[in-house]
Amino acid sequence: MSEFKKVAGLTGMKDALPPETARWERLEAIVRDWLAGYGYQNLRTPVLEHTRLFARGIGEVTDIVEKEMYSFVDPLNDERLTMRPEFTAGIVRSAIEHNFLYDRPRRVYAMGPVFRHERPQRGRYRQFHQIDVEALGFPGPDVDAELIVMLARLWRLLGLKDIRLELNSLGQAAERAAHRAALVAHLEKHVDVLDEEARRRMHSNPLRVLDTKNPAMQDMANAAPRLFDFLGAESLAHYRGLCDRLDDAGIAYTLNPRLVRGLDYYNLTVFEWVTDRLGAQGTVCGGGRYDGLIELLGGKPAPAVGFAIGMERLLDLWQQDAPDQDPAECQIYLVHQGDEAQRRAAQIAESLRDAGLRALVHAGSTGFKSQFRRADASGAVAAVVIGGDELASGQATVKWLRAGDAGQGQQESIAFGQLAGKLQQRI
Ligand code: ATP
Ligand code: MG
Repeated sequence: MSEFKKVAGLTGMKDALPPETARWERLEAIVRDWLAGYGYQNLRTPVLEHTRLFARGIGEVTDIVEKEMYSFVDPLNDERLTMRPEFTAGIVRSAIEHNFLYDRPRRVYAMGPVFRHERPQRGRYRQFHQIDVEALGFPGPDVDAELIVMLARLWRLLGLKDIRLELNSLGQAAERAAHRAALVAHLEKHVDVLDEEARRRMHSNPLRVLDTKNPAMQDMANAAPRLFDFLGAESLAHYRGLCDRLDDAGIAYTLNPRLVRGLDYYNLTVFEWVTDRLGAQGTVCGGGRYDGLIELLGGKPAPAVGFAIGMERLLDLWQQDAPDQDPAECQIYLVHQGDEAQRRAAQIAESLRDAGLRALVHAGSTGFKSQFRRADASGAVAAVVIGGDELASGQATVKWLRAGDAGQGQQESIAFGQLAGKLQQRI
């Protein structure tokens, strides 16, 4: 035994093992096809960025920047760095840096891990994964609608049920300023019911106070002036334009005037897709318009809109709505006895793969019995047996394994040269 004390993984950072990883890969493949269907292209940014990108981009007084970021000083050059807590700021930085969005508007996406130092619980991890989609350079509600229609299609593709859309409009800066004054006055009037966090935020980010889940503050929040009532004609027209298009597509939505989202950069459209089937962490996807962010991060002003899906939450819901058996390791499991048979089995397996079949050659123990146990456990449809007799006759024994199949337990002989063709036809 080694002296080494075993090391566990980090709290809130999960491993994914087979067969669960097969679901991840399937989801990723479906997502790439789905995005390609709408002309979205992949844009990849590094995990590490300058801390000030997020402090500026997400907003100093958001939860993420205040307390959730994994930040450190690079000891080699004293730079403050942060592991991305979301994709948008990095994508915008990249688009500005490479002049990627000025010649024409762009539809891009990214998929991968993001990092937030939160209290781990179901649906809330410290390393989690997002599918992030951004439409850069588009001003109109048509593209807001495209994103939402597109999401409805993904839920359909996955067979998800009970997922509903909430919408709000955060208007423009002047409308928010007028509302903010009224809201702060309301909060000051009810300061006695505010919890500590709300008191801290009432002047720095009063809109977020309304996002509270504290039951004692619900009456106060419900009675607060609604930003939606401060919207001018243009903002309302944008909202109406979105709703008309959702109606065209037959997508149901509810206006939630308290929906604000946890990042500071949004204006006009914001939305969330929520479900009651994931416990307390019911938001599967959140998004909205952020027309000011590109300029805020040093680019030429350009409008933009996007969303992020939490993949762990999506997978949890998908598992509930479309459970299935563990995927098989292979379709054909090759068992063999003796050195020569092993070498022949390896060659045959290559010919099966040439024919597009998934084949696994037994490795390790030699007894036929334990090899058949492994063949069963692999989930293969058939075992191909190569022993002394088979080598002598040039015919493999094929044993059909899968319960429920007509052929289960049946056995037949097939010439080595015909195996690939015959198995391909039958599987
Ligand atoms: P929440 O209110 O749940 O904290 P958020 O507003 O911080 O969410 P966003 O920054 O909008 O979330 O991220 C987009 C999506 O990423 C969320 O809708 C959710 O599905 C997912 N998500 C956010 N934080 C986590 C986390 N810690 N673990 C797993 N998924 C997460
Ligand atoms: Mg959060």
